[in-house]
Amino acid sequence: MISLSTRIPLIAHVQGRHGRVAIVDSHGAFAYDDLLDASARVATALLTGRDDLREERVAFLIVPGFAWVAVQWGIWRAGGVAVPLPLGSAKPELEYLIDDAQASALVFDAQAASLLTPIGTARGIRTLSYEQIFAHPSAGLPDIGPEITNDRRAMILYTSGTTNRPKGVVTTHANIAAQITSLVEAWEWSTDDRIVLCLPLHHVHGIINVVSCALWSGATCEMLPRFDANVVWDCIAGGGVTLFMSVPTVYVKLIVAWDAASPERRAELSQACRGLRLMVSGSSALPVGTLERWKEISGHTLLERYGMTEIGMALSNPLRGERTPGSVGTPLPGVEVQLVGENGAQVVPGTPGEIEVRGPSVFAEYWGQPDATRAAFRDGWFRTGDTAVVENGVYRILGRTSIDILKTGGHKVSALEIEEALREHPAVAECAVVGVPDPEWGERVAAAVVLNDGDALDLESFRAWAKELLAAHKVPSRLLVLDALPRNAMGKVTKPALVALFQNSCGGSADV
Ligand code: AMP
Repeated sequence: MISLSTRIPLIAHVQGRHGRVAIVDSHGAFAYDDLLDASARVATALLTGRDDLREERVAFLIVPGFAWVAVQWGIWRAGGVAVPLPLGSAKPELEYLIDDAQASALVFDAQAASLLTPIGTARGIRTLSYEQIFAHPSAGLPDIGPEITNDRRAMILYTSGTTNRPKGVVTTHANIAAQITSLVEAWEWSTDDRIVLCLPLHHVHGIINVVSCALWSGATCEMLPRFDANVVWDCIAGGGVTLFMSVPTVYVKLIVAWDAASPERRAELSQACRGLRLMVSGSSALPVGTLERWKEISGHTLLERYGMTEIGMALSNPLRGERTPGSVGTPLPGVEVQLVGENGAQVVPGTPGEIEVRGPSVFAEYWGQPDATRAAFRDGWFRTGDTAVVENGVYRILGRTSIDILKTGGHKVSALEIEEALREHPAVAECAVVGVPDPEWGERVAAAVVLNDGDALDLESFRAWAKELLAAHKVPSRLLVLDALPRNAMGKVTKPALVALFQNSCGGSADV
């Protein structure tokens, strides 16, 4: 007989790291031994004398920090499936996730207690406060039989579908280990690394790429409760940080904060960046302008990678060697990638196709949705729904097949490609392109822009300018000037919301 913990690859991996600091948060520094102790308490509280939760789902709402990880690991050590809930959700959103996951218990911190207690009580679900659990000693965790394998379900992450309600993406312990080890190898994580987390923890980026890779490697993860550009800069300026990973909008906000700083502070921040060995961007397309500006400020060419909740990371620019702006590089270790046409056959290099991914990092199923799971795979390959093209041996993402590949007047065009061109306009600070249904054109190319302070833009002059850079059918025939683009918690533009904005507005349209 063997303890469940030693069968969970991530937890088995950290045994024997006595005295090493695993996590730093606003409460202090916590060693790997503290994490093992606290997660054992959580597991004991969840088990209440049973030997194994047998994949019961435990949903939790906790501010990023040591407690968040202790609860995730405690659920795993008790044999449960961890369901991290998004901070900042409204009550009906949380109710949907808790009901869909059929959670048997809810764990929360003091901040979330008043939101989750009534939800649990109304459903007869156990509610546990982290503070209370932590005050209790741990019992020895039970041994379990060899039938427990890495194929056990470990986590459900909800992905926001573009039209439907969020689907629960189930990963096993083996999937998670594969997602972690691929990145640890490619980006050469080591015990000497220290990373700052400023991403939300209901998403693969923060959970796997930052926190889990750090802990797997014996590194230290400095966890911020939320993103604040000045606080992130303070962490970097404080020294010792070796890695930073985030989304394009975070880099944009860090650039704005750097621009607003005094010349002395700017010099200090830029100098501090030189101490890092790697800075990564992903989860949405990195504008080339942002990459270039960040390089001027930090000296780093951001490493852009591509991944998604269902597959972890799949494509990455190299750690060593040339990084191609606007591209996401080549397949990561252990990940197979192919591009296919509508008939499912591989396309020739240079022709756009849908990205399909195969390998041990690919998720197990959509929770409770066997039909959706079946539909997501073709001959064992996961169909990502993203279109890409291979040019000079590296992949370039053209966008979500369903939303970013527009069909206008018989042409297929990439919204991401048009956005990249429109950002060149001197008045444009941010830009997002969508296809708006149109009886004549199928879809019209529609651009929403946020302008630089004090600038103005009208459709006619914008079109005249854009025609110098883009073929006529790619030039937007609709324009909306907004104060801000609609974005989700990961900073991604919520394009369906943008389409709705265009459909509800009549201004800014050109007859073409
Ligand atoms: P999520 O499951 O929330 O991580 O979203 C995954 C989606 O984000 C992918 O299917 C892509 O559409 C998009 N994505 C991730 N990384 C990139 C990237 N580097 N460039 C463009 N799109 C990306």
